[in-house]
Amino acid sequence: MSEPRAFVEVDLTAITANIRHLSRGIDANILAVVKADAYGHGLIEVARTAIEAGASWLGTALLEEAFALRDASLTAPILAWLTPPGEDFDRALKEKIDLSVSSLALLEEILAAGKRTGITPRVHIEVDTGMTRGGFLEEWDPFLVRLREVKSELHIVGFWTHFARADEPDSDFTEQQLILFNVLLNALQSEEIFPEIVHAANSAGAIAHPGSHKQMVRLGIAMYGLSPDVSTMGDSAKLGLKPAMSIKAKLVNVKRVPALSRVGYGGTGVTDRDTQLGIVCMGYSDGLPRRADATAGVSYNGELARLIGRVSMDQCVVDLGADSAARAGDYVTIIGEDGFSADDWASAAGTINYEITTRIASRLPRIYHR
Ligand SMILES: *Cc1c(COP(=O)(O)O)cnc(C)c1O
Repeated sequence: MSEPRAFVEVDLTAITANIRHLSRGIDANILAVVKADAYGHGLIEVARTAIEAGASWLGTALLEEAFALRDASLTAPILAWLTPPGEDFDRALKEKIDLSVSSLALLEEILAAGKRTGITPRVHIEVDTGMTRGGFLEEWDPFLVRLREVKSELHIVGFWTHFARADEPDSDFTEQQLILFNVLLNALQSEEIFPEIVHAANSAGAIAHPGSHKQMVRLGIAMYGLSPDVSTMGDSAKLGLKPAMSIKAKLVNVKRVPALSRVGYGGTGVTDRDTQLGIVCMGYSDGLPRRADATAGVSYNGELARLIGRVSMDQCVVDLGADSAARAGDYVTIIGEDGFSADDWASAAGTINYEITTRIASRLPRIYHR
């Protein structure tokens, strides 16, 4: 096979190290969040690695992601929490995938699937304690009424909520969410329903709010070695984490141009000296943010070369400097230890590291280091 023009390297040993590092401070089950193709790192490889590293659960948003895990022979408990009406709940039950119950309509669909298949659905009840997104809010009381009638038809495995602001150490919002969460749990227990696994914490909760750990934490971004919020919690290094993703792309060409050359669509980039430009074979269709400014770029042999002009669909241009030895066909590092980080790209594009890694296109091959 020819060399890829651009590829993603995923350091699975970093994911293992991150889980081990985080689990030192966590006396609870770890659910490895592998939604969105494991934040762009690769669903199956990451799921296997996480289980080997000590995670006991896998979590996905979509049911199709959970099916893909089962198709790859992963047998760990799986929770899929984002299922609009009309999903294949029969198959979910047959494949022993835990479902989140977050509305009355969904409860009825899951009960119906239980009747059809003769399998008792394994469910986690989701309550909305302040995110105002998923989970029971105004339907809570009618839900309890209905649950009284049907609780024998369900295996209520879990009870859970999601934090909106766990990455803000100065805010007491997470504590308020936990108080409401406990009130709702008590209401459930008054119905003689005792879920085995109560869970609330995401990465930020797991790191910054030890009181939120309960019986399980749902680790996403931190497992991949990135900070939930660089500005409030510090970066990967500060948190003792190692980013697992790096990206390399080839130079299509290197060209020498004079000062004041205008670069790219709209001519928004202007060279400030005689220099060499590197034409990099990766663009916004590959997931590089078009909005990124010149605070991001690439590295070549550890030397930084910043973006110049707009990112195009399949390529972008960087200012290598007059003396660079880089040549057409050489690889440059888009994200990597010796260059720019996902955090740098996020800040250059006005977004968050989550969006950078999850949007790296699936057409770039993933190469795994074990
Ligand atoms: C994505 C997600 C997580 C993981 O969040 P991180 O901030 O990446 O740790 C946890 N729980 C739910 C419900 C999620 O959707």
